[in-house]
Amino acid sequence: MAPIPLRDGDLRWVFPHLAEVEPVLDVLNTATALVERLAAHLGHPRDDPDDPGGGLVFDHLPGAPYAGLTGTVRTEELTFELRLSVPCDARGRAVRPPPWLVDGEISIRCDAISDCGRHELETLESECGTPTEAAGGVLAVAGWLLSRGTTVPPAGWRERDVLSRHR
Ligand SMILES: [Zn+2]
Repeated sequence: MAPIPLRDGDLRWVFPHLAEVEPVLDVLNTATALVERLAAHLGHPRDDPDDPGGGLVFDHLPGAPYAGLTGTVRTEELTFELRLSVPCDARGRAVRPPPWLVDGEISIRCDAISDCGRHELETLESECGTPTEAAGGVLAVAGWLLSRGTTVPPAGWRERDVLSRHR
């Protein structure tokens, strides 16, 4: 499934019954710009279709009524990720919001001999009751990722990895 950029999708996948699209879209576009600034800071070329260092994309499945939004910036070692998701039922299917869950995560590639995948370094999470609040939450997480990604030098993350070279 190819991710659908924010401008090409339908915000009502995320916010059914959204009365006014523009104010919420404005906030999400600002969040996209912050994620793109982080990508540029970490050396991603702009407008490269093969590079995920872009803005927010919908994780919409064809025919599904609801979807979330994600923004991801990767380097060889690090992943900065932002997610806006709708609730799930017991079988893992998306159900009608509210609430919306907004979360951010910074993780680093495992450096142990028995490779476990990725090590979580820092996370943020909040639950939102309205589209305005959810869009504000996305902007806050995007700002947090940009700030962490530009203040911590890339080599400084491994020092924060408590699982580094674990057994
Ligand atoms: Zn590991």
